Amino acid sequence: MSSYSLIIASGNAHKVKEFEQLLDGIHFKVYSASVCGGMPKVDENGGSFVANSQIKAEALRAIAPKEAWVMADDSGLEVDALEGAPGVYSARYAGPDASDQDNVTKLLKALGDLPKEQRTARFRCVLCVIDEFGLVSFYDGSCKGHIAIAPTGGNGFGYDPVFIPDGYDQSFAELGDTVKGKLSHRAKAAEWLKSTLAEL
Ligand code: IMP
Repeated sequence: MSSYSLIIASGNAHKVKEFEQLLDGIHFKVYSASVCGGMPKVDENGGSFVANSQIKAEALRAIAPKEAWVMADDSGLEVDALEGAPGVYSARYAGPDASDQDNVTKLLKALGDLPKEQRTARFRCVLCVIDEFGLVSFYDGSCKGHIAIAPTGGNGFGYDPVFIPDGYDQSFAELGDTVKGKLSHRAKAAEWLKSTLAEL
């Protein structure tokens, strides 16, 4: 069995560890961008999860060892009643320096007292992989649910305290990592990537 290197376009040890676990079992060794001296600064101005993931993957491809594969992810929350917002602006919905709490507060205000049926939303994740020959491929995953009336739970990050996945009546921040690790948009996208890489 041959072994490949997959470098993740992130210096965030938590994110790299999460992908390492999600991709466990394939004959790729997962590294963080720190093996290339760190993730280059990029302008995530692509306008879609696909475009932004490709911007990050190409920036890393340019500095990664030729024989390695690279992967970048982009993700966010789409709310139907807000025509897909915050979408690619999820991290900076309430402004360039917004905290998770600022973003959640703005989201709850935007939805007001709309009933549950009109609070439908989904997390989306796109993974962009570029192989050693420069071939670009994309894998996506989503997780449907609705936005709660108020935040609950202490786990997770971002919009987790107000996102209730379909089939549950607790938020991601209450359900915790074990449930989220099976249902999440990142887990679904990684599952698809894993099944493709497993064929190599
Ligand atoms: P990134 O592309 O992974 O950096 O995610 C962009 C933003 O989307 C984050 O800052 C969060 O606000 C939101 N987001 C993405 N994934 C999740 C999640 O699993 N839970 C909560 N918020 C998320």
